[in-house]
Parts: sequence; C-alpha cells; structure tokens
Amino acid sequence: MSQPEYINSLEGIFQLSEKEKAELGQVTAKFQMRVNEYYLNLIDWEDENDPLRRIVIPHLDELEEWGRLDASDEYKYTVLPGVQHKYDSTVLFLVNSQCAGYCRFCFRKRLFLEKEKEEVLKDLEEGIRYLRAHPEASNLLLTGGDALLLPTSKLEQIISRAREVEHIRIIRLGSKVPAYNPYRILNDKALLELIRRYSKPKKRIYVMTHFNHPNEFTEQSREAISLLLKAGAVLCNQTPLIRGVNDNPFVLSQLFKELSFMGVAPYYVFQCRPTIGNKAYAVPIEEGYEIFEQARMACSGLAKRARFVMSHSRGKIEIVGKSDGEVYFKYHRSAQPEDSGKFMVFKANPKAYWFDDYEEVIREYPLENPFRVSGPE
Ligand code: SF4
Repeated sequence: MSQPEYINSLEGIFQLSEKEKAELGQVTAKFQMRVNEYYLNLIDWEDENDPLRRIVIPHLDELEEWGRLDASDEYKYTVLPGVQHKYDSTVLFLVNSQCAGYCRFCFRKRLFLEKEKEEVLKDLEEGIRYLRAHPEASNLLLTGGDALLLPTSKLEQIISRAREVEHIRIIRLGSKVPAYNPYRILNDKALLELIRRYSKPKKRIYVMTHFNHPNEFTEQSREAISLLLKAGAVLCNQTPLIRGVNDNPFVLSQLFKELSFMGVAPYYVFQCRPTIGNKAYAVPIEEGYEIFEQARMACSGLAKRARFVMSHSRGKIEIVGKSDGEVYFKYHRSAQPEDSGKFMVFKANPKAYWFDDYEEVIREYPLENPFRVSGPE
C-alpha cells in the first residue's frame, strides 16, 4: 500500500449496512468522523464489539448528554492562538486540526468543528517569540490534531525554528499516526531524515505515540516504530482507558508488554475526560484504577512505567491507590504552584468519573515547592 485513502463519511465504509449508516448519520451530524482504509482492514467486521471498530466507528451512545467540549479548560492556559502553557517546563503548539482517524472518545474533538479551528497555531514567529521569552520551558510539544499529519516540509520549518531556542531541549511530536497510518512514516524518508537531523544526544525528539490496543500492532506499525527509533527519536506511549477497548487487565497488560518489547515506554494511561459524547467510552475512576493495577501485575518493571492520571484543569492528578472507603491522589504536574506534589485522601465514590466528583476530602499533605516560579502569563 502507498498512502491509504481517507474516508470522511459513513458512505465510504462499505462494511457497514445501509441501516447502520442511516442510524449513525445522527452521530456524524454532530461529531466529525474520519478513518482510512488501512485501519478499517484491521477491524474484525464479524465482531460487533471489535475494539478497533469501537475506536473509529461512530456509535449512537455518543448522543448521550454528558460533559463539556473543553473538559480540561485548555482555554485558560492558551497564551496565544494555538499556544498553551500550563506547566512551567512544557509549552504546547497546536499545529493542526486533523488526525489520521478521529477517535470517537477524542478529548479535543472541538478542534474538528469548523468554528473551533481558530485554536490552531497561525503565526509560528509569535510562537517562537513566546518560547524565547520563557526560559523555564525546556519542552515543546507539537500536537493538535496530529503533528505527523503536517507535511514534512512544514514540520521542518517548525522544528528548525524551535531548535534555535537554546533552552528548548526536548521537542515532542504527539501522534497516533504509527497506529492509524504507519505508511506516513514508512514512505517518507525525508521525515526520518528530519528526525535524524534534529534529535541529538543533548536535545532529543520524542514521539508520543497513541496505541490504545494490541491489535494496532501490525507488521507495518512495528516497522514504523523501528524506523523512528533508528532515526534517533525516543518513543513513549499514552492512551486513555476506554470502555470496550482496553478496560481489561489482560488487554492492557498486553499493550504495556508489547510496547516495552518494541522499545516504547508506556508513559500515561489517562482517565477518559468528561468531554461531550464520551460517556459511553469512560470507565469510573476506581474501577479503572483496579484494571490498571491488575494489568501492571503481569508486567516487567519496564512494561509497568505508565502512570494512571487525570488531565484535570488544575493539573495532572495521579490516582495512586484506594482502600476501603478511601481513594488516594497526588498531583503529578500542577498548574498552581501550591498544589505541586500534594497528596490527597478523599472519601471513595465508585461512581466518580472525574476529580470534581469527589466531594469529601479526608486529608491533604501539601509539599513546599523549592522550584516555585510564577504561572503562565
Ligand atoms: S489522535 Fe488524539 S487528537 Fe486525534 S482524534 Fe485521536 S484522541 Fe483526538
């Protein structure tokens, strides 16, 4: 296969019946859809509950009222159009509003709506000026959408300018392309050359992959990972915990193990954000914690490096444990300096899907932050 063809409407999915297409039209009238031939071929169409089908094929349950479009208040940390700065060390450029497929549980589905495309970086030079003015930032994350959906020449423009900013040591590319369309990597020598040129011993390029399920590991995706590693990128994987996809200790442990075998560090497992349309994909926090910990029981130390976190408006809150009647949280990253490293004990709530659903705090242990700097401007 050269580049798989993208399919942006239900009409193009011949595997769906006419009845299914007619029903699901209500969903696509509200939320965008996108798949491609390569990924459709990985689905077992005999199995209604196929996990990859659940990732990309719209479902009527998306119509259930729930959540907000911007569940983590990203607007609060948007310092320029397409530039977010929430944690001191890391600046985000939202470089485009497209992905190689649209995950049904996407937390940034607002970017795919016409009126919200304004959130994408328009003026690279403004973004570079912002980086220069913020020496506390050592990491730049290029995300969206998907960084690898940009043409390589455009990506090069951004990376080469960012590399001129001395204190930006790590450039991360957030991408589900290795899972959705590995041919983007397999067929583009210039992309690998770009990584080779700009991923240096003291200043690496990280590719933050987004594999959700072991069925996404194919000969092609493994080869794409291998080429990225050979080109000098460091690879980490992040995935949300999704009902019907990876909410099973066996599946999740297989995902972690396979990643570690390929040389990709399992980095984050995210609690599914309460974004509009996502209720059917979310797993309650305490149930999710058990699945996550059980999965880790089957793993080597290298395969169990992921943390189970919520990307909450106040910071990345790690779910670190539970006992009879209590749940334990810790700020892994905090947007407010006073929260940094804070450990919190809350009364359990098995129905909770988000930090805000915990109402009764039992104890809190704040930590003095010796590196405190002022928050985003
Ligand atoms: S790859 Fe990420 S940004 Fe793109 S649709 Fe999936 S969750 Fe959303």
